Parts: sequence; C-alpha cells; structure tokens
Amino acid sequence: MPPRTLVIQVVTCDTTEAMRSAYLSPDPRADIVELRLDLVRDLDADRLLRLPGKPKLITVRLEYGGQDLHLLTGPGRSRRILSYHDLQGTPADLQGLHREMRAAGGDALLKIVTLADAASDVLRVRDLLRTAEPGRLVCFCMGPKGVPSRILARLWGSAAVYAPRRGAPGSAPGQVALEDLFDVYRFDRIGPTTRLLGVLGSPIAHSLSPRVHNAALTALGLDYRYLPFEAGTLAEFLPLLSELRLAGFSVTLPHKETILPHLDALDETARRVGAVNTVVKVWNRLEGHNTDVEAALLPLRRRMTLRGARVALMGAGGAARALVYGLSTEGGRVTLFNRSAARGRDLARAFGVRHLPWDRLRRFPCDVLINATSVGLAPDAERSPLPPSWIAAPWVYDIVYNPPRTRLLREARARGHHIVDGLEMFVAQAAAQFLLFTGTEAPIKLMQETALRILGHEAPITGPARPRPRAAAPARPAKTRPARALPVRRRSRRARHR
Ligand code: NAP
Repeated sequence: MPPRTLVIQVVTCDTTEAMRSAYLSPDPRADIVELRLDLVRDLDADRLLRLPGKPKLITVRLEYGGQDLHLLTGPGRSRRILSYHDLQGTPADLQGLHREMRAAGGDALLKIVTLADAASDVLRVRDLLRTAEPGRLVCFCMGPKGVPSRILARLWGSAAVYAPRRGAPGSAPGQVALEDLFDVYRFDRIGPTTRLLGVLGSPIAHSLSPRVHNAALTALGLDYRYLPFEAGTLAEFLPLLSELRLAGFSVTLPHKETILPHLDALDETARRVGAVNTVVKVWNRLEGHNTDVEAALLPLRRRMTLRGARVALMGAGGAARALVYGLSTEGGRVTLFNRSAARGRDLARAFGVRHLPWDRLRRFPCDVLINATSVGLAPDAERSPLPPSWIAAPWVYDIVYNPPRTRLLREARARGHHIVDGLEMFVAQAAAQFLLFTGTEAPIKLMQETALRILGHEAPITGPARPRPRAAAPARPAKTRPARALPVRRRSRRARHR
C-alpha cells in the first residue's frame, strides 16, 4: 500500500484571532491544518500553538537555498519540511534539484512546488514523483495550468496536497478548494483504472463543466473524472492527451477550430460548421463532434417549429455560427446582425442568410430574437445588447447563461415577451457530451440543478411571463422533440477508450 496523501488545510489570516477560529473549525477531512504564521500581523504564537485539535503544520517560510538550513536538524519532536517554491516556472532539471534537496534535507519531508508555465509541466512533476521515495516528496504545480497535478496528487504519489476551504483565501495560485477535491473530483478515489476526461480552453478557471460533469459521473457511479485543462496553445496540451490517456475532452475557446487538424474523424455537423466542442478517443482515434448546434436549437424546438420561423440573430462569433448553420439547415429564415459589419456579412454569406446593419434591429419583425453575442455575460451582467423598446419578437432567447437571468431577459420579460435562457443550451450540450464520453444517458435534471446552484439560482427561470403579446407574429404551437442522436458508434463501455 503506498503511503496516503495527506490533506493539508491551508489557513491564511492576518490576525491571531481569525487564525484561531479558522483552526478550531477545520474541515473534518483535513489531516493537518497549516497555519501560515508568517502572514499574521499581531502574532501570538503561543496562543495558537497551545490550541487543541488537528495536527498543525506551522509555516514560517524558510526556503531551500536560504541561510537557515541548520534549523532543519535542530532538536524537537516535530517533522520539518524543506521546501522549494518557484513562482516563475518549472525548472528544467527537477531531478537534479530533488537530488540536492535530498542530500541537504536529512530526514525532512521535501516539497517542490513550481508554477506550470505550460500545461504539460504537470507531466514533469508526475515523472519526478515516480522516481521519488514513497511518502518523502510533496510535489505539484501552481497556477491554473497546474490544477490537474493537485487533483491527481494522490494517484501520482505526492505525500501531501494543500487546499483552503471553499471561499477562504488560498496561499498559492491554482489551489483547489478542499471541498472540491473531495466532493467534485473525489481525488482520494482516483485509481489507475479511472478514466480521465476534461475541458480544454483558456481561460477555464470559471468553467461550470468540471462540476456539472463530475456531479453526473458521481451520481451514476461511473469511474471517470473530468478535469480542467487550461492551455493557451494546443502544443502544450497534446502531450497530456496521450500521456494521461484521456478518454475524451470538451473543447472551448480558443481551440474549437484549431483542434480540427489534430483529429482523425469529424461528425457531419462539426465538418459543416468547421468547429468541434467534443473530442472522444475511440480505439486511439480522435473523433471530433459538435454538440453545440443541436443544443442551441433544442430550447427553440421545444417551443416552436423551426421551419419557416423568422429569426433575428445577434452576433457572428463561434456560437452564432453554430446557430446560423443549425437554423438554416432546419429551414429557419435567419437575419444576422453584428457589431462588426464585415464579420457579420462574412458569416451570413458562408451560410446563405441575410445580413443587416445593427440599427435595423429596432422593432425588427420576427418570431424570435436571439442574443449570441457575449454582451450581458458576467461580470458585465448589467449590459444588454439592445434597448428593450427595440424588441418586436414574441420570443427572446439569450444564450448567455452566466447569469441565467441576463438583463436582456429581465427587461424582455417585464415587457411581456417569452424568454429562454442559455442554461438550457448549456445543459443540452453537456448532456450530449456526456453520452459521447461514457455511452450513458446523462442525468439532465441533476446537471441543470448543479449548474443553477453554482450560478447561485435556486430554480429554473425559463418560461413565459404571461400570454404572448397579440401584436407580435405568432409562433407555431410548441412541439417537443428529443435531441437528435449524434453519430455515436455503439459499443460496450468497456470497449471504448483504449
Ligand atoms: P465569440 O466568438 O468571442 O463572439 C463574440 C460575439 O459577441 C461577436 O459577434 C462580437 O461582435 C459580439 N460582441 C462582443 N462584444 C460586443 C458588444 N459590446 N456589442 C455588440 N456585440 C458584441 O464568442 P462565442 O463563442 O460566439 O460566444 C458568445 C457568447 O455565447 C458567450 O459569451 C457565451 O456566454 C455564450 N455561449 C453560450 C453557450 C451555452 O451553452 N449557453 C455556448 C457557447 C457560447 P464582434 O464581431 O463585433 O466582435
């Protein structure tokens, strides 16, 4: 049995009293509580050291390479940690550094923590841990690109992992909350046969996907974990894909188009749209899928017939592209509006739809107005793409989902329009990905509740406010159709992802 990875709850406070109360209410799953005495302004060390409770890690940071190494061999019953932190990057010769520290540190626990400059730096940390004496080395990467090395710390054999409680200040960039380590990632139960999934993008720190997918995986008892992979370039991510033997991954900005040349096959939608949001590994072949298109249409399908529907679509980015393709394929009559006219015209031309200048949106007659711009997205949640008096459509659909109740939707609803929020699309694309990844139908309700909880909303907000205004063009009767099956090759779950 390899030594257990200790969970060290980080406590950073600037007063003795605050540190005392944080120490006295630890997460029960923490093995040790780290008290960063070096950060306390009015330090009363005796008062803190006398407190009964969980074992304490007292940190008065003393770096390897400093003048006080002799303290490591001083008297006392405490175990000492000799640490090396690099906030600039991951040094080229990690093995050499480890050798030197082992020679200098006596029986001290060694800790090497470096910033992941590239997403693939976490693999160098893993390789170092493979060669280290079990239980003697704490090692992982800091920063958003280092997050996988914290979640996989136990699997890779790090002697400890550091985590603050959710909502408490951390002590290093990229720390994962202790509650998330256990409840979202179940990091203590990741084993060699656990299959890894994730989301590739930049920035990714605020993505809902890890929590939503992991909640679904946990509920169904599937031994997968879904990790965040922050990477600005594909070059830094591709080594992870093979080395971690990812079973699949979601793709978000800015990689939805640049990933295409790296894939062995594309589904029809991905090929036609020229963008992929899901990659699945099947027998070592990478298959690219696009679940955005069907997911973007689904909320509308539930409420109206798309054939012949008049749609005013704002935006010309990746999401608008998926919508233009999907709506025009279904026989919708799309008119595109975009802030940058040239980009709007290009997109309209690519799919043979009409483009009009932005100011023509005023009272534009249509069945549904769709916001596929990023206006209204948190933290700029008080912005709206257009004044409410411009809206003439009975239905307003905003694909921005954070917050679910955007200003555009709030104002439209107050004026009697029907509204559809972007969370429904988000959950639909995640559910389709889940099916592709695992071969199992997703627990959609749970995914939606999880997303709403994260976004701080208790109940779904989608739905008509009051009867549709008479003056507006009537939408056809609502008809619910199931999401069209994506071309998943059916095979047993065991046979997938070799
Ligand atoms: P994108 O490729 O960056 O495109 C952004 C679009 O927003 C462009 O058309 C841009 O116009 C427009 N825009 C930005 N600022 C604007 C402003 N101040 N006024 C008017 N237009 C403005 O982004 P994307 O991938 O298409 O995503 C767009 C939004 O959709 C995201 O913010 C996200 O919230 C949402 N989304 C939701 C889901 C879901 O599942 N619900 C999925 C994907 C995306 P220019 O061309 O003039 O720059």
